[in-house]
Amino acid sequence: MSPCSKSISHQESTTLLSLPVDLQILIIPYLDFTSLISLAQTNHFFRDLINPQRQHFVGRLLEIECLPNNGGEVTLDLLKDFPTTVRYACTRCLKILPHTKFDNHALLRLRFRKPPPESRAGKQLCSWTSGDAKAQGLKRQADLKNNTFENWMSREHPLIFSPTPELRESYKIGTCRHRRTCNECKFQTGFWARNININLGWGHRNDNQDVGTASMPIIKSRQVYTYHDPSQRFFPGLFPYTGEFPARLRSYRVHHIDREAWCLYSTRCPGCERWQEFAAFRQPRMPKSRPQDAPRWNISWNSNIEAWRCNSCVAAAYGEQELGKQLVAFWKTLAEAQVRLLDYRLENGWRQFGYLENTNKEFSWTRVYRRARVESQLLREVPSPLEIMKMSVEARREIYGIWKQFLQEQGEWGSGDSIKNLWFKNPWFKHWSYGYEAMEKRAEFLKACTDRVEADPGILVEYALRGAGYEAMQMSY
Ligand SMILES: [Zn+2]
Ligand SMILES: [Zn+2]
Repeated sequence: MSPCSKSISHQESTTLLSLPVDLQILIIPYLDFTSLISLAQTNHFFRDLINPQRQHFVGRLLEIECLPNNGGEVTLDLLKDFPTTVRYACTRCLKILPHTKFDNHALLRLRFRKPPPESRAGKQLCSWTSGDAKAQGLKRQADLKNNTFENWMSREHPLIFSPTPELRESYKIGTCRHRRTCNECKFQTGFWARNININLGWGHRNDNQDVGTASMPIIKSRQVYTYHDPSQRFFPGLFPYTGEFPARLRSYRVHHIDREAWCLYSTRCPGCERWQEFAAFRQPRMPKSRPQDAPRWNISWNSNIEAWRCNSCVAAAYGEQELGKQLVAFWKTLAEAQVRLLDYRLENGWRQFGYLENTNKEFSWTRVYRRARVESQLLREVPSPLEIMKMSVEARREIYGIWKQFLQEQGEWGSGDSIKNLWFKNPWFKHWSYGYEAMEKRAEFLKACTDRVEADPGILVEYALRGAGYEAMQMSY
């Protein structure tokens, strides 16, 4: 007999099965949940011995969600979107689901997060125990009692005497994941019905930030995206715009001067019972738009909220033509409001010249205007800001050309010291001065889009039912 075959037969003679049951019972608790279930599936003997319960399957699911193909450990980096492949376990329906099927609380609270491998939850074993329910209950109680932070420290980090916050985090992270459920399970168990306060008035804070009603929850979703304006937020990717986007009046991040962060909301359509983005309901209002705002939405003023139906439901019930009509009306509400806003800003920027005239002689409008017109030797009357505001768009554009030329003569745009000072004092005026043409172009673009969808509402129907809008509203990204 060769030494090789001898070692094989030696291995065969000492399988787990050949050990006495007493020893098996001592070994099995040191398996992880995946190995425990696998062992229970090898034969009848282990199936009967281990007798896996729901908690063991949940434990296995929580191990599977940490595997790299489900996104692995997820670090909190607010600058990054969650990748599309990040999935989490729901411990009620026992499924691994994309992260969009959960709310923030279910994923981002420390005890609900995926644990790194070196943390307490990352190293957790199945702690299986033999015997009846009573024996298992006693074991669980003993485990809970022994699982203190001090015991864990002396076991895992015996040489560290003053624990750091990172170690405390490592002790806590991911330990409550067995209580995590998806949005649909929270709906089925009545969680949303209990937690949506339907008696809120204006000005009341709603701490869990969700709105809607028991049968139609509107849940703050996992995504915060930045959009340039409401028409883009409710019709993402519909009309790609290639020009420079106008700056917003208020900005909280310099690199987001032309964009605003919007919360997305998962909403459960009562018609088709699917969770969809709020945009699928064609409501040109939001519970709240900016992440920093508290939601202010008194639903008793919106009592017909439960009659809202998603795009697909409207198309199924009343036909695509009716859906097209509603979508065009929705688009027009958003686009026209934006055009009005841009017009208002274009006009309003001229007020600044009156202020400059009195405070900063260097940028005196009278001087700028006279110098620009000096070649024509026509010392016409200088139009006052109020007169310019009343002019037609074309006439205003021509006068803006004078201001633009003056700025360009100041050397590189915005590099001179006095000009820097001016911009520093009034950043919005800087964006107005440089973004004037962008604002005009954006308004024209939106008007052209409105003309297009009015001529052919099919564009919007196609977008919402089968195109990019369908993708976005199903939250399948
Ligand atoms: Zn579920
Ligand atoms: Zn529906």
